[in-house]
Amino acid sequence: MNRRKFLQSSAASSLLPLCPRSLFANPTPPTSRVRPTDPAWPSKEAWQHLNDDVGGNLIPVDFPLNPCLVNPQSPDCATFFTNIKNPYYIGDSPGITQTLGWVDAWATKPSVYAVAARNASDIAAAVNFAREHNLRLVVKGGGHSYQGTSNAPDSLLVWTRHMHDITVQKNFTPQGCSATTQPQPAVTLGSGSIWFQAYDAVTTKSGAYVQGGGCTTVGVAGLIQSGGFGSFSKHYGTAASGLLEAEVVTADGNIRIANACTNPDLFWALKGGGGGTFAAISKLTLRTRDLPELAGGANFTVKAASDDAFRRLVRQFVSFYRDALFNDRWGEQAHFSPDNELQISMVHLGLTTEESRKVWQPFLDWLAKSPGSYTIKSQPEIGSMPFRHWWDVDWRNEHHHDVFKTDSRSNAGAQNVWWKGDAGQVGWVVWGFESLWLPATLLQSDSQEKLANALYAASRFEEVELHFNKGLAGAPPEAIESAKNTATNPAVCNAFALAIIADGQGPAYPGIANHEPKLAEGRKAADAVHRSMNELRAIAANGGAYVSESNYFEQDFQQSYWGPNHPRLAKIKQKYDPDGLFFVHNGVGSEQWSRDGFTKL
Ligand SMILES: Cc1cc2nc3c(=O)[nH]c(=O)nc-3n(C[C@H](O)[C@H](O)[C@H](O)COP(=O)(O)OP(=O)(O)OC[C@H]3O[C@@H](n4cnc5c(N)ncnc54)[C@H](O)[C@@H]3O)c2cc1C
Repeated sequence: MNRRKFLQSSAASSLLPLCPRSLFANPTPPTSRVRPTDPAWPSKEAWQHLNDDVGGNLIPVDFPLNPCLVNPQSPDCATFFTNIKNPYYIGDSPGITQTLGWVDAWATKPSVYAVAARNASDIAAAVNFAREHNLRLVVKGGGHSYQGTSNAPDSLLVWTRHMHDITVQKNFTPQGCSATTQPQPAVTLGSGSIWFQAYDAVTTKSGAYVQGGGCTTVGVAGLIQSGGFGSFSKHYGTAASGLLEAEVVTADGNIRIANACTNPDLFWALKGGGGGTFAAISKLTLRTRDLPELAGGANFTVKAASDDAFRRLVRQFVSFYRDALFNDRWGEQAHFSPDNELQISMVHLGLTTEESRKVWQPFLDWLAKSPGSYTIKSQPEIGSMPFRHWWDVDWRNEHHHDVFKTDSRSNAGAQNVWWKGDAGQVGWVVWGFESLWLPATLLQSDSQEKLANALYAASRFEEVELHFNKGLAGAPPEAIESAKNTATNPAVCNAFALAIIADGQGPAYPGIANHEPKLAEGRKAADAVHRSMNELRAIAANGGAYVSESNYFEQDFQQSYWGPNHPRLAKIKQKYDPDGLFFVHNGVGSEQWSRDGFTKL
């Protein structure tokens, strides 16, 4: 809704006085948040003032699923189920999220109002309003939280989608750091930017590198606060390690700078302490680096003829990985599936096509020696390309690289693309999702058998994914040191991979006939995911889990996500947000609130 419509819908708005603004902390800390049905819900006039404060950018939030809830057979509902496969449609809709829900955990719900923020002042107005009126506040950027932490019913949403200005800079010095820090190349991003926009500006247009996430439609602010991994993190480290400065709005409504010299405690917490917890970020500045000339990949799938052959294949791959791939050149994934397939989707940095093929030759030779046991289902694609064009849509099209899906809406920009490999998760409903960092000690010669047996046993229940780029063992010392200076569980530094086991279904929502989440199947799958991961937990106890790719029902989440860093995070939360205005499920400080963030426990 635009400003004019909002004015028409609220009576006598022009006669109202300005909202009284109590400064900073509430004199009496809130014990519960207000819902629209409560008498204390802000009046129309109060909302009108907020709308004025944010330049007419307060919008009532539409729920795109409504046509389906009213009539699942309607053409509008059919249109919704087409649109929901497009992450840009989702990103442009403040009322939904990339993941539609999680069986027995949550289902996406719209806020009552959203501030479609343009800058830090708009965010501050929303934060002040929520604090003064005891509202449940929620912040959404890219909307890719699996845990549903960027949606909440009966809430006020800070929606950063339109804040995507990007400036590439040659000489950036964090504010207040000029005495201690040399200027360095950097990129400053509005917190609503998504990674594709960052890569387009930094790599395709400027020939430099910024460490971000793998999925192109993930939001920059959500990923940085997660710690964050991209395909090349085995070389460059976590995305959070590259944060140089953030402009944020804290719970007291102040716009603050956080960097190594100014508010360094808050700065540290933003680097992996979890999204939506410490402040609302308006701008981020990330370090950029020189771009290597080449990058590439290795993709193929091997099918084993029997369980026994698969067991041998897993064992062989473990030792091959240790000998040939366990270094900072190789990232991304290997999958081990219940139907005895090993799927390789890995990326490399800085190797020529010939060099990368040479790396894999011993493994391919080993397979070729047993044609009765192993079939290569898809012919190996191993090679390299100019790194400058990794995210270059035109170049990829010209070279017939069929890797992106595109936004087909009539008004969509040509750069609205996402990797085909991520398409299955657009509009996804999660059944089960768990992760575990696997320590590199498991790759030692005398542990490889144990690791291979556990991977095999786990793969009997569900497909096991090893994300090598999400464990930093094998990375250059500098990348590991930088990660130690973030809030992420230090287990990441000793891990050779993050194991992810997950299952789910395509778009569905409770209450829509023929599009309901499959509860029985989902619960069975969640159990299989858990049993599968338990096989790995048996050899990697206390491995820790990645905050943004983990179980909604994570046991002892404080320890899993942050390990020994949690007590320090809890203190920082207490300092900057003592009344818990910023609440997310399983976030730092969330123990003090009910699961929906409405009631103080
Ligand atoms: C398909 C898919 C692929 C993924 N791939 C990767 C990957 O390659 N690497 C990886 O590390 N992770 C990956 N993730 C996980 C992802 O990084 C996290 O879920 C991340 O938090 C999403 O950020 P977002 O802004 O898109 O999501 P949102 O849901 O908008 O935000 C996530 C959290 O951050 C908070 N937040 C968002 N913006 C702000 C802000 N401006 N200020 C304060 N808090 C904010 C939200 O409140 C929420 O709690 C993936 C997730 C999905 C669904």
